[in-house]
Amino acid sequence: MDDNLIRIFPAYRVQHNNSRGPYKGGIRYYPELSLTEIKSLAMLMSFKCALLELPFGGGKGGIEVNPKVLSRRELEELSRAYIRAFHCDIGPDRDIPAPDVYTNETIMDWMENEYSKIAGRETPAAITGKSVQNNGIPGRVDATARGAYYIIRRLINHIDSDGRLRVAIQGFGNAGYNIAKLLENDKKFIVVSVSDSKGAIYSENGLNADSIMQHKKVEGLIAGMYCPGSVCQREEHMHITNDELLRLDVDIIIPAAMEGQINRDNASKIKAKIIAEVANGAITYEAEKIINNKGIVVAPDILTNAGGVTVSYFEWYQNMNDERWNREEVYRKLEEKMNSALDEVEYVSEEYNVSMRTAAYIIATRRILASMDSGD
Ligand code: NAD
Repeated sequence: MDDNLIRIFPAYRVQHNNSRGPYKGGIRYYPELSLTEIKSLAMLMSFKCALLELPFGGGKGGIEVNPKVLSRRELEELSRAYIRAFHCDIGPDRDIPAPDVYTNETIMDWMENEYSKIAGRETPAAITGKSVQNNGIPGRVDATARGAYYIIRRLINHIDSDGRLRVAIQGFGNAGYNIAKLLENDKKFIVVSVSDSKGAIYSENGLNADSIMQHKKVEGLIAGMYCPGSVCQREEHMHITNDELLRLDVDIIIPAAMEGQINRDNASKIKAKIIAEVANGAITYEAEKIINNKGIVVAPDILTNAGGVTVSYFEWYQNMNDERWNREEVYRKLEEKMNSALDEVEYVSEEYNVSMRTAAYIIATRRILASMDSGD
């Protein structure tokens, strides 16, 4: 640490299934991280990659740390130490990490640099989610949000509504902020509420994503590269709690924070017609039953947030083949991938009369089993 003390942070990498290709999955920095959670997130990645027909299996990693209290130097040292600990288990053909909660392209750049140093050669394909100047891909930063936006834009055909569709977004990080921006620029939607870990704000007339982000940055006590300033500090809007956000009378709820946020305690209070599950595991098993009975359309996480790993695949492919794609090409390919996954999910959902989540699992499981059977 900066004060010369040595601190130990528990760190994990879980590899779930690689029958379809190298393990793929993000690394999160989170104070309440648990191995059980990382295991379930690694499994979700196997299903997600299979659903999107990406040549990857599922993995996930993390460090039990509150990154907001580290200096930039400590954060870099910790990120490099993670790679030193796991470099034998990762690599372009083995396991390819990416960003997740509280990690970003700067952290991925440090990690790729450390991996390349140990490998003794430039190995950009070992890590995705890097900055564009460091062999990253244009459009990776908002890929998760954009993928979710493509799905939401199609699902609104399932609901009746006059006027602009009212949206509440829980979580204002990479995913939540970028979705808010995309929806704000589409006349069909109005974002009326957003939140972060400290609380939520609500405005009947709509919110402006950039001005909220600006406020978070200015008000935040900058520690390392994180801004702990909260969206709740915006005076001109009504302050509500994260739980009140979920109970708002809106058309669409987008959980984009952490798992388990929609659970048996709040599921019956939800009034939205669509839930687009951007955060992995945002809806618990018990809550899903309640939500399905209410007839709410649920776009499941393994479909809704798959834009991130899909563009990570494009980045890996580019690095492996020494190609460069432009932003328009990335968006076009992403839209095609998301649309065809949604087509398949809707088809299987109708065929078996099951929810979109069950349909997504049917498709993914079939693909994983087929490659396990063929011994590829
Ligand atoms: P992030 O770290 O950029 O942002 C997380 C946000 O959630 C922050 O605004 C934080 O304040 C807020 N938050 C944390 N706990 C909260 C709580 N209890 N209530 C309300 N808000 C809370 O993370 P991200 O990358 O945007 O990821 C968000 C979710 O999306 C995660 O579940 C992640 O696994 C999933 N996801 C992200 C990506 C990606 O590419 N970023 C890809 C796939 C899935």
